Amino acid sequence: MRTIGLLGGMSWESSAHYYRLINQETRRRLGGTHSAPSVMVSVDFAAIEALQHAGDWVSLAGRMVDAAVQAERGGAELLVLCTNTMHKLADAMQQAISIALLHIADPVGQAIADQGLSRVGLLGTAFTMEQPFLRERLERNHGLQVITPAPEDRASIHRIIYDELVRGIVTDESRALYRAVMARLADSGAQAIILGCTEIMLLVDQADSPVPLFDTTTLHALAAVEAALAEGPS
Ligand code: GLU
Repeated sequence: MRTIGLLGGMSWESSAHYYRLINQETRRRLGGTHSAPSVMVSVDFAAIEALQHAGDWVSLAGRMVDAAVQAERGGAELLVLCTNTMHKLADAMQQAISIALLHIADPVGQAIADQGLSRVGLLGTAFTMEQPFLRERLERNHGLQVITPAPEDRASIHRIIYDELVRGIVTDESRALYRAVMARLADSGAQAIILGCTEIMLLVDQADSPVPLFDTTTLHALAAVEAALAEGPS
């Protein structure tokens, strides 16, 4: 099994789930006491979040490239960037390393297409919902049609991610808001909803949605195990 590089801390609340999911899946597939060889580079999210909200994607690109190089030097044989939002910088990161970056959109798009679904609602940070980097890859590579919530709903979804979920705060009030937004997306024709921020799975699960949910954290983690087992020397 190849060594999985995890680029985490964005936030560590979800990175912890990646670590658990990857090791659980490795044990399920290999049995016994098997666990996944991995290295994690984990950043200080306060600095990242400040740069995001300042719109300083040039500095962020530098930090993400440095972290990706650090993971490769640390022995990673494939790279998993444990956040949707920072996939805005995926191309710059991939160009700086010789190992493959396993793009978060691909296992998600594949899983949805495999179910024969095409019109999907996307929840995530404002960056993810409003900029093209994730949506276009889902549309172009996986044939999906992506819709997002109304502007005031997007603002609430974004606020809850940064004010609550990345801080480990999970409330019934915010769950109710997410439930209402997901119901409105379904009313708008969404056949499925992508939890396109790696912390949303802390707040809602399938019981909260009238249509199937596709969680980026889980699907990305499982895809990392698949890739680590599929290729290269053990
Ligand atoms: N983890 C979140 C995501 O998947 C947001 C944190 C970040 O901005 O990186 O987009």
